[in-house]
Amino acid sequence: MTDGLVIAVDGPAGTGKSSVSKGLARALGARYLDTGAMYRLVTLAVLRSGIDPADAQAVAAAVDGVELSVGHDPDEDRSLLAGEDVSAEIRGDAVTQAVSAVSAVPAVRARLVELQRRLSDGSDSVVVEGRDIGTVVLPDADVKIFLTASAEERARRRNNQNVAGGQADDYTAVLADVRRRDHLDSTRTVSPLRAADDAIVVDTSDMTETEVVAHLQDLVHQRAGARR
Ligand code: C5P
Repeated sequence: MTDGLVIAVDGPAGTGKSSVSKGLARALGARYLDTGAMYRLVTLAVLRSGIDPADAQAVAAAVDGVELSVGHDPDEDRSLLAGEDVSAEIRGDAVTQAVSAVSAVPAVRARLVELQRRLSDGSDSVVVEGRDIGTVVLPDADVKIFLTASAEERARRRNNQNVAGGQADDYTAVLADVRRRDHLDSTRTVSPLRAADDAIVVDTSDMTETEVVAHLQDLVHQRAGARR
């Protein structure tokens, strides 16, 4: 057994999952893997090729040709498509609208899951963030966290982020989008979003980011202690 711990952090959009996963990786001196960025990279490649994201066959045919890479430093977002840094573009509206359809295509998941397993391997600790990490990608992860929060709270946070980033203040539209993505992600046939049976569910609705990171650090230390 290695000294490194594999920590899976899953949950829907807007639970603070990314900030918390990065914070946890920083606190533990661990690597950080953002699997959502990988689905976003494939989605951007699909859009740039002029493929309809709803055309599952065309998307499946294109996925093997996508040359993608993501960083593993929680302090540096380095998402590359054929060597080009597209870290900002993959967070834009066009990709966000299309990513659920692209990530529902089995061939996309097969390729990315395989890559995610390879990138999570190693002797150092790693925090892997996504939707199906504890259930499908890394079922043997040492610690499995599933973050939740009410749809309203998640929409409020997302809308605040948008406003801080210079976008329009539109809570109603953001709430509709949160519900739309929840529905798509939890009802798809391949790897629907759900907590693993052995995941620790943490409701972040009434917690600050700092409180969540501290709580997760405690959980990881307990687990590491139990392993010794
Ligand atoms: O985490 P993020 O919001 O960037 O993820 C974007 C989308 O990628 C999600 O809405 C989901 O459709 C998909 N995704 C996934 N499986 C993962 C990570 C993300 O299906 N492990």
